[in-house]
Formats: sequence, structure tokens, C-alpha cells
Amino acid sequence: MPPTATLADIKAHQLKIEKGKIRPDNLPTCPRCSVESEFFKIHAYRERRFLIIIEMLIKAAYCSLLRFKCPGCGKTFTHYPDFAIPHKHYTRPTITGFSASYVESDDMTYQQAVMVDNSAPGYPESDSTDAPTLAPTTIHRWITTLGGFTQTCRTALILLLQENPVSSICRNLARMIIPQRKYKTKQRKKQLINCRQLVIIEAVFQATFKTSIFTKLAIAAPFADISFASINQKGGERLDKEQEKWAISSGAIC
Ligand SMILES: [Zn+2]
Repeated sequence: MPPTATLADIKAHQLKIEKGKIRPDNLPTCPRCSVESEFFKIHAYRERRFLIIIEMLIKAAYCSLLRFKCPGCGKTFTHYPDFAIPHKHYTRPTITGFSASYVESDDMTYQQAVMVDNSAPGYPESDSTDAPTLAPTTIHRWITTLGGFTQTCRTALILLLQENPVSSICRNLARMIIPQRKYKTKQRKKQLINCRQLVIIEAVFQATFKTSIFTKLAIAAPFADISFASINQKGGERLDKEQEKWAISSGAIC
């Protein structure tokens, strides 16, 4: 079975929205004016298309996402359900699952990474878009995206170590290596290592806090995100461009 959110997950989220059960509490404090997210007001509903995999076919499923507005400055924030990654149509289990299978195996190629039980998930003809099946280059792109969540990983790690100071996670992360034939540039090596670290951090975070690092930490901004500032609330400043570059290039999370 390919990793994917299910139609039931998406319907359940839609139902929660219709019953007014989505609360803004999980969102970060407003980075502009520091208003706590619990005071955010509902701003708009936007329909979003998600791509899920049903019996090896890639199908579109729709549900609403809720946008909240900060009453202090008017900045808007999208609330993402657990199965979503900001700005991605495929769902979190699909993106992290296929990416993990590539980075966690020393021998796997991108061509092999799209295969599930000897075939790749495909698009039904009627729905046919740009590709007949899930493309190896898509996995490559997902890893680039996941490898860019450096700051989210850092914040998640701080929370995990606060929760369990004797955790061995830093030792495990420091041991990560990627076989040399998987990259041609230093930048790609960093992305692969970051992605592999993210997979581990996400698993431990899920087990510890029963929620995804994406839901909890990466909802406010696309890649080099503002979550560190949001989670540290009053203390932190938003990373500036230079710091972002450093965070990404340094790659060392522990
Ligand atoms: Zn604000």
C-alpha cells in the first residue's frame, strides 16, 4: 500500500470545518504584532485540492482549509490539517513516505523509490494531467522541500529535548550519512541529510506529541519558516535572510 492520506481523513477534516471545530490555538503567535493565536478570528474558507492514492491510482479529493486573521494587524494564517504540508497537493504521508524510503535506503534509486509492489501509482486516464505515473523527479523535488525545513526541525528538536532531556535522538541524527553516489553537489548532500533527519525527528515528534511537526510548527510560512520565533513567542525574532541561509547551509541540526 502506498503511503497516503485517505478519503476518510479528508472528509473528517471537512466535517470538522463544517461543525466549526477547527480552533486557531495550534497556529503560531502573530510574528508581526505578537497577538496570541487563540484570539485569531475566522477569515475565510478556501477549497483545496489534495492528491491521494486509492488502489494505486492518484485521485483528487477536495476539502476546505480555514484561514484565520490576526485582530491586531490583519495578517492571515492558513490552518493545515495533519495530513497536509503547506503548498503541496500530495498529502504528508505520501510526501514523507516516498521521500523516507529513498533517503533511508543506501541503495535505492529515485526510479525504485516510486515503486510500490512493482508498480508506480498512476493517474487514471480521465484525470490525466502531466504524468502517467508518479515521477521519480517528484520524489527528488519532495526531498528538496523537506530538506529545507531546517528551522522546523531545530524547533522540533528543542521541544523533544525539553520533553525528554536524556533522549538519544541527537546521537542518532549525528550518525546520519548519505552514500556518495546519491549526490553530486554539497548542497544536495545537505538536503538529503536534512530530509533524513526530518524523517527521524517527525517520527519521534509524532510518538511524543501525537501530532506532526508540520501541523505544529510549519504552518506559518513555506520553507525557511518562522516557527522558531513563533514557538519561542516573545523571545524570538524572525530569522532574517542571512540567518536563513546559514541555517540551511549549516545543515547541522544537533
Ligand atoms: Zn498580528
